[in-house]
Amino acid sequence: MTTLSSPDATSAPAVGGPALPQEIRLRTEVPGPLSRELAARRVAAVSAAVGSSMPFYAAVAGGGVVVDVDGNSYADLGSGIAVTTVGNADPAVVAAVGEQVGRFTHTCFMITPYDSYVAVAERLNALTPGDFPKRTALFSTGAEAVENAVKVARAFTGRQAVVVFDHAYHGRTNLTMAMTAKNMPYKNGFGPFAPEVYRAPLSYPFRDGLDGPTAAARAIATIEKQVGAANLAAVVVEPVQGEGGFIVPAPGFLPAIAAWARENGVVFVADEVQTGIARTGAVFASHLEGIEPDLVTIAKGVAGGLPLAAVTGRAEILDAPVVGGLGGTYGGNPAACAAALATLDAVEHEDLPARARQLEGVLLRRLHALAAVDPRVGDVRGRGAMVAVELVRPGTTEPDAALAKRVAADAARRGVIVLTCGTDGNVLRFLPPLSIPDALLEEAFDVLDDVFATDRPTAR
Ligand SMILES: *Cc1c(COP(=O)(O)O)cnc(C)c1O
Repeated sequence: MTTLSSPDATSAPAVGGPALPQEIRLRTEVPGPLSRELAARRVAAVSAAVGSSMPFYAAVAGGGVVVDVDGNSYADLGSGIAVTTVGNADPAVVAAVGEQVGRFTHTCFMITPYDSYVAVAERLNALTPGDFPKRTALFSTGAEAVENAVKVARAFTGRQAVVVFDHAYHGRTNLTMAMTAKNMPYKNGFGPFAPEVYRAPLSYPFRDGLDGPTAAARAIATIEKQVGAANLAAVVVEPVQGEGGFIVPAPGFLPAIAAWARENGVVFVADEVQTGIARTGAVFASHLEGIEPDLVTIAKGVAGGLPLAAVTGRAEILDAPVVGGLGGTYGGNPAACAAALATLDAVEHEDLPARARQLEGVLLRRLHALAAVDPRVGDVRGRGAMVAVELVRPGTTEPDAALAKRVAADAARRGVIVLTCGTDGNVLRFLPPLSIPDALLEEAFDVLDDVFATDRPTAR
């Protein structure tokens, strides 16, 4: 059988990274013949429960493009869900990983420790908000980081309850399914879920119209009535909600929740798995809120595409479990740590937060221009290179999930990768790699403008 991972001469180059031509270029229909062949093999081999948003198969990627096995080049506005923030196949990441895997691929930090794990911990301790003694523990996935944040909060407080918010997404493991709000597809049929997880109302300015302090008072009243601070180990919140719809809480909401947690001996956990590592225009979104979380969970963008996750926070909390209480076979894998150090170098030395703020300017300009002519764009929101539009039926706040789905599918056929999200599935989210050239981003939005125009109702 021919191998499809090495495309023929008429299709994609063999090496990714920013040197790839930064263009939207379609050579076949989408999906092309090689992608269709893989799709047929997949049906017979891969669990049908694993979905893919895009109908084409990747061959190489870099800068702001993903090139498929048929040689079609797409503008990437998704970064593999906010992971390739530094760029796909970033040369510094590739070099660091290559150097590391040539020396050793794995020893298990719990057996024979190594320096890069310690160095990543030092870097994250310095980069997270708050000038207090910190510690870090490394894992492989975001859900694992969230689980471990809950574990250390329980060990530290001697309490069991955990509060999360409406629209929250924290992962797909048993505990994090309980913490995630949305049933379909994340939880449906997968219960029973972990106990002692309680849900409080979020601040959702587009839908509740409340200012931040009022929304926080509502959440705190719910927590005090339904849980009781004395039973509560941790409050876990995404500073900007990711899968839940890129909801930015009203100003003052997060500081009020954090202050209440502090006063009540409750561990305040910022789940920055999606918002962290320069994505929102600061190294962590907590910086933009002026909050100093007791614990921060980190994953996605931290290691340029390699699986690495972390819990970073107050030394006394992370040191609370018994020795050996935290860990995992692969946690802090050396190749992932090498990738993280190269990524964090770029965050600091190439000022990636500033690049995210530049991209915010382009994204908001294009999306506000779209909202001005399209009555189905109900809200434009987000921070840095984490921006979204919420789509509604004109003149209402009624969610229009079908439109989000249609736009994402048409955009893919026209050479643009764009993702949907939201509890109602009616949010289009934009998460370009920070390495995307401005010209390509503008070109992608020209395509999106066209895609929106095809069935636009006339009057606002
Ligand atoms: C993606 C995500 C997770 C889960 O991360 P995985 O690596 O998929 O386990 C947790 N929290 C937030 C906010 C996320 O966006």
